[in-house]
Amino acid sequence: MDKYLVIGNPIAHSKSPYIHQSFAKETQQTMDYQKALVEIDDFEAFIQQFQAQGGRGCNITVPFKERAFELAGQLTPRAKAAGAVNTLIFQNDGIILGDNTDGQGLVGDLLNQGVELKSKRILIIGAGGAARGCILPLLEQAPTSITITNRTYSKAQQLESEFEHSALNSVPLSELKAEFDVIINSTSASLSNRLPEVEESVIATAHCCYDMAYGNEPTCFLTWAKDLGVAQTVDGLGMLVGQAAESFRLWRGVTPQTSKVLATLREQLS
Ligand code: NDP
Repeated sequence: MDKYLVIGNPIAHSKSPYIHQSFAKETQQTMDYQKALVEIDDFEAFIQQFQAQGGRGCNITVPFKERAFELAGQLTPRAKAAGAVNTLIFQNDGIILGDNTDGQGLVGDLLNQGVELKSKRILIIGAGGAARGCILPLLEQAPTSITITNRTYSKAQQLESEFEHSALNSVPLSELKAEFDVIINSTSASLSNRLPEVEESVIATAHCCYDMAYGNEPTCFLTWAKDLGVAQTVDGLGMLVGQAAESFRLWRGVTPQTSKVLATLREQLS
């Protein structure tokens, strides 16, 4: 049976086995998908061993995404742009292909939720790995502009200069104007129940606020946005399922339905 793993440290919380096993059932694919806790120093050796034992691919999560990027023998353009890999595909020629499906997961979820991106002004708060991975897929949706802001502003500037795209700019948090249609919180602030330091007026004028974080209740960022009158607030659970669906498609050649799995996960969370 074809074997797949999600690899991270920690990994106990991962919902990926449930998601991929559900996809496999729905698409009638015979495959096995488990989680593996890998010690920090053992990542590369573990991957090589899993490949030698006939593994077909892996999902990679914190803290190994950059090391997976280094390990892959080939990279997709979106993985190159992201500088990080969340999906490894063990190809028949033995070469490991690295891809990054996080951005596709985000864009797919936004579109599924009816959020228009074409000709819209997008603000990304945060300039970490998740922001980096989403820039190219968001640019492909032809927004009017993407503005990146971050607590440590130099990291936002760094992303702007790396991507070198006319629609992409960076602005310090304190200099943001109230001019965005869609605001994406890609910081990890919500995980510790904190808000990024953005003026209320900037948030209040958006049509949609998206938080990549998710939990059993709306995140503090989404509650804040809703209280400020933002019409649509969406958390990152759909992004999680969407990135998994894209990995599954890469491995198995079929695109699974995401709505049922998403509804079950939402129910489990609450
Ligand atoms: P990183 O550690 O790479 O980046 C964290 C970012 O958050 C940095 O920009 C950092 O700013 C900022 N930040 C952290 N704390 C605060 C704070 N209190 N106030 C303002 N900014 C803050 O993390 P990732 O980019 O990998 O992940 C970011 C978030 O996205 C996490 O919540 C993660 O769970 C989520 N995520 C969700 C996915 C999904 O499928 N739904 C997939 C991937 C990520 P600074 O540079 O100044 O430190």
